[in-house]
Amino acid sequence: MNKESRKIVVVGGVAAGASFAARVRRLDENAKVTIIEKGPDVSFANCGLPYYIGGEITDRNDLAVQTPESLKGLLNLDVRTNTEAIEIDSVEKRVKLRSLDGEVEWLCYDAMMLSPGAAPIRPPLPGIEDERVLILRNLQDMDRIKENVAEGKKAVVIGAGFIGLEMAEQLHRQGMSVTIVELQEQVLPQLDPELALLMQSELEQKGIKLHLGDGIAGFRGAQAGITCDLASGISCEADIAILSIGVRPETRLASEAGIKLGPRGHIIVDEFQRSSADGIYAAGDAVETADRIIGGSTAVPLGGPANRQGRVAADHLIMGNKARPYPGSMGTAIVRVFDVAAGLTGLTERCLSQSGKPYVVTIVNDNHHAGYYPGAKMLAMKVLWEPDTMKILGAQVTGLEGVDKRLDVMATAIAGGLTMEDLCHLELSYAPPFGSAKDIINLCGFTATNQRDNLVSAVHSLPQDNNVQLVDVRPKPLFDVYHPDGAINIPFPTLRCRLDELDRSRPVTTICALGKMSYFAARILQQAGFNVTSYSGGIRGSIDPRTPVKQPFN
Ligand code: FAD
Repeated sequence: MNKESRKIVVVGGVAAGASFAARVRRLDENAKVTIIEKGPDVSFANCGLPYYIGGEITDRNDLAVQTPESLKGLLNLDVRTNTEAIEIDSVEKRVKLRSLDGEVEWLCYDAMMLSPGAAPIRPPLPGIEDERVLILRNLQDMDRIKENVAEGKKAVVIGAGFIGLEMAEQLHRQGMSVTIVELQEQVLPQLDPELALLMQSELEQKGIKLHLGDGIAGFRGAQAGITCDLASGISCEADIAILSIGVRPETRLASEAGIKLGPRGHIIVDEFQRSSADGIYAAGDAVETADRIIGGSTAVPLGGPANRQGRVAADHLIMGNKARPYPGSMGTAIVRVFDVAAGLTGLTERCLSQSGKPYVVTIVNDNHHAGYYPGAKMLAMKVLWEPDTMKILGAQVTGLEGVDKRLDVMATAIAGGLTMEDLCHLELSYAPPFGSAKDIINLCGFTATNQRDNLVSAVHSLPQDNNVQLVDVRPKPLFDVYHPDGAINIPFPTLRCRLDELDRSRPVTTICALGKMSYFAARILQQAGFNVTSYSGGIRGSIDPRTPVKQPFN
């Protein structure tokens, strides 16, 4: 192939496609790069769409990160918007294009990037075609939703994942009355249930109605509005319904071209993003990729992986063996809804228990910075790790402040192959406005090594066995507000003098607000000969995360 005249066609010009094209140009000034995009916009900020609807982003033009003209000027890329790739002839290496006005032509390529993304799922439900049932993928979808937003109107958001929750917040910001319908018994089904509770209470406090454990069965449109019928028989009246129940890879084109797809319809690629067809790379939401933690394949429809995969493909196309392979994805994701943030990296307990892989759970609650410094807010962290090696398998974090910092440290730790033991001595930045001398990340390491060394036996749910003595070591006023059935109150400072009140022949589970004092209590009881477990994470439900917690032993 003559490098001077290399013809490169990119199908889909947003995250992966635009990233690929830009990198190709930086590596090869002579390539002829054409981006084919079926929509009217190229390289736009799809992640920003909800924030324009809610008015946090005020200028629509800020979302059009690039235009065909700016890409021509900056990178000498030929961009053809409103043009769809409708057929790939991978033998003759050409792609059939159809423009908005119906004109059809073939374009030859030496190499292609297939980055068509994924489309929101629209199940074939009764009434789904009603124009008030809306999805959000591009600027036109965003405009349609925005036109229907007005104070006092009602919206039903179907699906409480990342985009659904962002939409619920933004519609609420605009004065709409919002109801969320979610098939799972929790919001944010990407997280384990206990880590989603704070988000759930935040939504409820803000007046968002939740129908959890219920699915959408159909829609009935009338002149005045639309009725969303749920599987349970409940009906919700609305002016608009937003469908955010996940995405499906747009791989019809690839499939018809004979490109190999995985079991859920994603394009199979190797570590350099090469598909099964000669000269065709693929990246982004349309592909499956290696699971960076437990191997095998996974599909991660997120902006970061899409952009980085596009870059890997470009490197391989232009630099060949000098390119660095894509290491796989970990699914690091975060969402902010009102005052609460929540996110995850790596695997959840739900995934691990389904995979059959052994794991240990560590749950720690602590302030996001020194408790004595004004503004400290609670954080909750759950970390999953491998029992033999202490390798970190996944982490989830939720709270009001500092969630992103802890998630990113954990994502970096996982990528760097650190163990829970290594977390004990991570030297993280500390001054009272920023953190604690022992950051919650260090505490996760301490707790895990305590678990490994049998200094504490942690339980993650309260025992149902009546033979177990539940010892709540919180101060009496807190105990009086709420305590689990059957618990007895022995405030921690009095515990050493009151051991005789406990039956040494029966097991004990210690309880506190956050899991720390119950650990201290368990240590006293274990050394006094009791068979004791500590309720890890504590009874957080009774704690307002806005209130800093005094940590007398820090
Ligand atoms: P896309 O960016 O979807 O681009 C694919 C393009 O291909 C589309 O424009 C499509 O029109 C075009 N196309 C498809 N078929 C053809 C064809 N046959 N011919 C020509 N063109 C075609 N991710 C995060 O990590 N963080 C976030 O906060 C976040 N927020 C999001 C919010 C919203 C509302 C949405 C919709 C997504 C969000 N994402 C977020 C996901 C992220 O945007 C995607 O993972 C990412 O854009 C995928 O990149 P891609 O290049 O694979 O596909």
